[in-house]
Amino acid sequence: MKIYPQLKSAEGIAALLSSEDFTQVYRLADQIRRETVGDIVHLRAIIEFSNICKRQCVYCGLNRENKELGRFRMSREEILEAAAEAVSAGYRTIVLQSGEDDYFTAGRLADIIKSIKEMEVPSEERTVSPIHPAVTISCGERCEEDYRIWKQAGADRYLLKHETADPRIYDELHPCGTLQQRVKCLKILSRLGYETGSGFMVGLPGQTLRTLGEDLLLLKEIPCKMAGIGPFISNPKTPLADQPDGDPEMARRAVAVARILLPEANLPLTTSLSVLSDKEKRRISDNPFSFGANVVMKKVTPDKYKKAYEIYPAEFKKTEILQDRKELERLIKSYGRKPL
Ligand code: SAM
Repeated sequence: MKIYPQLKSAEGIAALLSSEDFTQVYRLADQIRRETVGDIVHLRAIIEFSNICKRQCVYCGLNRENKELGRFRMSREEILEAAAEAVSAGYRTIVLQSGEDDYFTAGRLADIIKSIKEMEVPSEERTVSPIHPAVTISCGERCEEDYRIWKQAGADRYLLKHETADPRIYDELHPCGTLQQRVKCLKILSRLGYETGSGFMVGLPGQTLRTLGEDLLLLKEIPCKMAGIGPFISNPKTPLADQPDGDPEMARRAVAVARILLPEANLPLTTSLSVLSDKEKRRISDNPFSFGANVVMKKVTPDKYKKAYEIYPAEFKKTEILQDRKELERLIKSYGRKPL
């Protein structure tokens, strides 16, 4: 199997990403995936518990300048109810995601994390001790103390995408922050012992293949144990309304390179990779797990809030937690992979 020395530099990665035929790279990524993380596809239940956000990320429908969006914040009871239903349906990870909403102080979220960690995943395995769900937090940039409190409360993972490794593009897209600050947060999370996840969007204005090379190398530098990589999807209610969507094929290529660079990482098939045209979906459904991904996130946000968590326009299906999970398990098995 071919090894790619050019993956050491952003220019080398850019050259590889631009190859006419990517088949060999996909094959290598899939082989590495099989040898490192195996055939298991981890299913994660994501609860989008608040769309209130103090930031102004220009690509995102939740940004505070979007006055057309009806805002919501789930109560503690609603969050725990959704989590309990997901856990009893068999999910072993609950992902808590929100805009940057200061109502959720470190203490309030810590209390929710602790309650979720006490839940028990039903299992047919004859284990001596009960299986408690893992908790992933994805609530943006906070101070080190908040991150520490959540870790002590039992949080296992933290997802905070760096979005783009080009500081100039980062500044244009984020009037409220800097790439330096974001990377600092990621390094703190990693030091605190979180399974740390970053990631980026493919197809941002001004981005080049070299930028994607920098993005991929940054994942390794942080160092990340998870990476969410997906196409940018234009949201008509944002300043990037007229921008074309990112290329899903390029996003798949970036996921494959991420698998080669970070062999052991958890790589989700990002939601934005599944919000695609029917034609694209059909292409992906040839085998959506053939390029290195080993994680799928499924929304379990209650229907009455789901539509309002509109990062980008997407088709909204009714949430049927147990039924959706069974359907996903069937799909994963049909590709010869093992849902967990
Ligand atoms: N506030 C948290 C944060 O910033 O990490 C979590 C919520 S944020 C909405 C989750 C992710 O949505 C971001 O990391 C970003 O990559 C993604 N996102 C936002 N707008 C997007 C768009 N238009 N296309 C694709 N992904 C987008």
